[in-house]
This record gives sequence, C-alpha cells and structure tokens, in this order.
Amino acid sequence: MAKTSKAGGGEVPIVSPQLIDGAKDFVLRSKPVRRVPCRVPGCGVVGATERSDGLCWVCQHLKISAWRDSAAQESASE
Ligand SMILES: [Zn+2]
Repeated sequence: MAKTSKAGGGEVPIVSPQLIDGAKDFVLRSKPVRRVPCRVPGCGVVGATERSDGLCWVCQHLKISAWRDSAAQESASE
C-alpha cells in the first residue's frame, strides 16, 4: 500500500505554474507605461504618465473640477 499525495477528495485545483509563467511573460512583454512624478508642486505622486500631461490622476481630476468651477463662476458673474 503506497501512500500517494491524495489527501482526501474534493481537492481544489490550483493554478498551474505554466499559466502563471505565461501571465508574467505577458506583463513583461507588454509595453510598460512610463510613470513619472506628478509635476504639480507639493504633489509629486509617481503615477503620472506622458499621456496625462504629467499629472497624476488626482491632479487631473482637480484640474478638471477647477476648470468647471472657473467656467461656472464666469457664467455666474455675468
Ligand atoms: Zn498630482
């Protein structure tokens, strides 16, 4: 009676190492987005990209909301 690695029934199938290697390979191969520190003084959060005009996503949102506020004020002051 040789004891096998069968540890009872209902074993949860684990992700095969080959699949994980494939995922790693995909991540490494995919073109990395260059992350740079946010250009807003006092922020400096690394997460800005060239696409986002050197702003992190937080500052992008702040910028957009600031535009909305200024636009609203201009129309209200008339
Ligand atoms: Zn920022």
